[in-house]
Amino acid sequence: MSQADTIVREDGIIDSVSGPVVTAVDLDARMNDVVYVGDEGLMGEVIEIEGEITTIQVYEETSGVAPGEPVENTGEPLTVDLGPGLLDTIYDGVQRPLDVLQEKMNSAFLDRGVDAPGIDLEKEWEFTPEVEEGDTVEAGDVVGTVPETVTIEHKVLVPPDYEGGEVVAAESGEFNVEETVVELDNGEEIRMHQEWPVREARPAGDKKTPTEPLLTGQRVQDGLFPIAKGGTAAIPGPFGSGKTVTQQQLAKWSDADIVVYIGCGERGNEMTEVIEDFPELPDPQTGNPLMARTTLIANTSNMPVAARESCVYTGITIAEYYRDMGYDVALMADSTSRWAEAMREISSRLEEMPGEEGYPAYLAARLSQFYERAGYFDNINGTEGSISVVGAVSPPGGDFSEPVTQNTLRIVKCFWALDADLAERRHFPSINWNESYSLYREQLDPWFEDNVSEDWPEVRQWAVDTLDEEGELQEIVQLVGKDALPEDQQLTLEVARYLREAWLQQNAFHDVDTYCEPDKTYLILTTIKTFNDEAFDALEAGVPVEEITAIEALPRINRIGVQEDYEAYMDELKDDITAQLRELY
Ligand code: ADP
Repeated sequence: MSQADTIVREDGIIDSVSGPVVTAVDLDARMNDVVYVGDEGLMGEVIEIEGEITTIQVYEETSGVAPGEPVENTGEPLTVDLGPGLLDTIYDGVQRPLDVLQEKMNSAFLDRGVDAPGIDLEKEWEFTPEVEEGDTVEAGDVVGTVPETVTIEHKVLVPPDYEGGEVVAAESGEFNVEETVVELDNGEEIRMHQEWPVREARPAGDKKTPTEPLLTGQRVQDGLFPIAKGGTAAIPGPFGSGKTVTQQQLAKWSDADIVVYIGCGERGNEMTEVIEDFPELPDPQTGNPLMARTTLIANTSNMPVAARESCVYTGITIAEYYRDMGYDVALMADSTSRWAEAMREISSRLEEMPGEEGYPAYLAARLSQFYERAGYFDNINGTEGSISVVGAVSPPGGDFSEPVTQNTLRIVKCFWALDADLAERRHFPSINWNESYSLYREQLDPWFEDNVSEDWPEVRQWAVDTLDEEGELQEIVQLVGKDALPEDQQLTLEVARYLREAWLQQNAFHDVDTYCEPDKTYLILTTIKTFNDEAFDALEAGVPVEEITAIEALPRINRIGVQEDYEAYMDELKDDITAQLRELY
């Protein structure tokens, strides 16, 4: 929010204060107007109007604010500042840059009543026009570019609410975001700075059926439960099961152009880790810093609850802005449960009728409105862009039957269920292959067939079947022991063990294993399948299962993940497995 160009309307008076919720009288306001509350001018938003009483959620700590103090209405909705400078920046939930705030207050603790524009209004950027005098432009069109970071070229767009017209002036040079870079014949002036109300989706054309995967570089995700570019996924899991590591792996390795990472309501020290770690991380795609294509929104549990409610909207609006430039954006929200808890707290202060487990009745609607803003879009300027949304869910006690998990499940198409037992056994990523699913699998198959291997769906299905069979056999093993099983079933268990250990497990902290390209994901699978096929041939020829599983080459399967020169390694391994098994009969 820039205070400079807001229209100040009539003032009101505070009537009551209840935590983040303040009521005012005599305030001439509309729903979602931004207001400044109390003598300190704390930022708030109108969330309810009933007769004389206006209810406001305040984005800052309200202790000490008292009835009788003034409320000033800006007459404007809560907006996000958009323009170059969004990337490589860390914001709080209402898009105040944390470093600017800290400088202003000279302390690490956020003080109150401090406002700061979301982007630097004075910094000059090198603008290169892509239009010239006489060209006609419409809303959403690209009029020029700015090198925003070493990685990302920022496209300067005609704001979506402009009419458009003929270009009468367009100049290259150094400009700050408030200066006009392109003028139209109808008097419209295009600047690099735009604002957009956070609670409203930016206009776009049709959503298309996504057909391209958002590659994660994680075998269990790309291999078994792929997400599409423009898709939605949830990662539910109890504490310590790997939600944060999984989200950060996506931020680092997924093949999105832009990453928006929302740290929502997690404990301060966890968020501090993210804030400290991210700026240090290199971008594996380019070697540049990862932050050069990332915006971080940090709203820790010790920051005001209302700002937590707004942080996901701030994040998704920024994501839409880069989508409009034609980029593939990945948005991570960690954790949507904390966001829902913020809604619950505000709702209870409003004394609304509680729904399930005290969450407001509109929980499901809010969640779906948020995930709705994901998709693979035809942009209004004719380009295509996507927003993939991945939300972590932290159900209390890891119980997936609670309302946030259940409502999220109804919306998202990809479900990566983290499992405390697997995490305890140090099986990482602890994505449970029985409970997880992806509804994108079939629609993404053609991409994998064209880009990896024609038999990708068959080989994957073989893996799924083998793991299913293992699941059933394990139940019997628990009762009667492994040795009581027929030999072919014992062999299946052995094959499945390699699937789990060499394929599904992946160490995020190993230099090589941390990222696995789809070719490698596929080849590991075919190596295990080679063992499977040759081993069953040997078994049929009468070789005892102990001899089959004792061949010297076999343990090498578990070291595939860490091989850099994996093709040569696997070629040799397949040959050795085949030769050693055939020697047995
Ligand atoms: P959560 O966010 O669910 O509380 P974390 O993401 O912090 O859990 O993960 C807890 C721990 O589990 C990590 O510190 C790490 O040691 C381990 N871990 C999680 N995922 C992986 C992974 N893919 N590879 C290796 N270790 C992992």
